[in-house]
Amino acid sequence: MQDRDPRRSLPRTDAVLADPRLESAASHLGRARVKRAVTEQLQALRTDVVSAGAGTDAASVVDAVLRGLPDGATSLQRVINATGVVLHTNLGRAPLSPAAVQALATAAGYVDVEFDLTDGSRARRGRGTLAALRAQVPDAEAVHVVNNGAAALVLATLALAAGREVVVSRGEMVEIGDGFRLPDLITATGARLREVGTTNRVTLDDYAAAVGPDTGCVLKVHPSNFRIEGFTRSVDVLDLATLGVPVVADIGSGLLYPDSLLPGEPDVTSALRAGAAVVTCSGDKLLGGPQAGLVFGTADVVEAMRRHPLARALRVDKLTLAALEATVDGPPSPTHRALHADPDDLRGRCERLAADLADLAEIGAEVVRSDGVVGGGGAPGVTLTGWAVALPESYAAALRSGRPPIVGRVERGRCLLDLRCVDSADDEAVAAAVRAVGAGGV
Ligand SMILES: *Cc1c(COP(=O)(O)O)cnc(C)c1O
Repeated sequence: MQDRDPRRSLPRTDAVLADPRLESAASHLGRARVKRAVTEQLQALRTDVVSAGAGTDAASVVDAVLRGLPDGATSLQRVINATGVVLHTNLGRAPLSPAAVQALATAAGYVDVEFDLTDGSRARRGRGTLAALRAQVPDAEAVHVVNNGAAALVLATLALAAGREVVVSRGEMVEIGDGFRLPDLITATGARLREVGTTNRVTLDDYAAAVGPDTGCVLKVHPSNFRIEGFTRSVDVLDLATLGVPVVADIGSGLLYPDSLLPGEPDVTSALRAGAAVVTCSGDKLLGGPQAGLVFGTADVVEAMRRHPLARALRVDKLTLAALEATVDGPPSPTHRALHADPDDLRGRCERLAADLADLAEIGAEVVRSDGVVGGGGAPGVTLTGWAVALPESYAAALRSGRPPIVGRVERGRCLLDLRCVDSADDEAVAAAVRAVGAGGV
């Protein structure tokens, strides 16, 4: 029996790696990555031929390795977001527009990010991106871009209030997610928090009583991921600006100007007009761009932030600058389109998907109402009227393990596929994936 031990007939690693199909994979994934996959596959065959479930000749080993290799050299997988949550933090928040993706590719090589091609001298880093932002928000005297919204707030606090006090309402002491809390972020800069008011109510007098010679700034934080309703009162930027100290407005989600779809959502232009010295927000929330922290404000405060020693530690790379400019200057972002999707159009797409699956009677695909949400720390009270195709609950896990994975939403024992955030060009791929799961007998 020893002679029949299949372990004896396993091909050598080198022999497998020499297969042209794997050489081609190595050219875009890297030789080390492919070699590791081959070693793992051979090891699996060596330890347990049956459960490795594959032939032991070189061609079969290559087949198995190719099945297990990713399409690209990143372990990140493209995911089809059928959750109806537009800014899904766990799915990478805002998807970039094709224009922004193209800008990323351009910026990947050598670029004139900090170079003046006319005279060969050094030029202002990211000047095109800053100009695009200024053009969208003419009320801002100056603009700066950092790594994310939290970094923008840190830099504003450092520039205005290090060693001094930041006056903030108790109702705005927000945890942004994953255990990170804005009050901790602020005190980590060396500023002291001066809390005013109560969880549900604060008045201008509360702020006025707290403001003094030690005040660095007053901070107004938009409670972007929760809502307090009922007996509440807060003070808006317009009134805070009368206190005679700089007002920092952290609006969170990055609307540059008002959006009638999101009436409760603050925007950069309005906050500046109301008198904020600095407005900070994220690039990858409602703006629909890459992760970034945007800073708009008066020339002196923005310049103080830009020249602060820590600004260098928070600066963005050329890829972000490129994608941000393309987002701000380019066609509507996928985020914008998902937010403003026409419910009738969504319904039509869902009906076509359900009709397409009608012959799979056992899954009972059915069009149902589905309220989308903004998600990602934006517009917590807003629901977006939409539609979904309901499938048996077991489809949720099966679709997640497909290629590309499709992430639906499980609700009341059913798997809902909400097409709001699905590119209509992917509708057929969704139908095919559901069909493949059906054929697999889930
Ligand atoms: C999201 C958010 C932040 C943090 O922004 P990041 O870009 O995630 O760092 C800060 N403040 C508010 C109000 C937010 O909504």
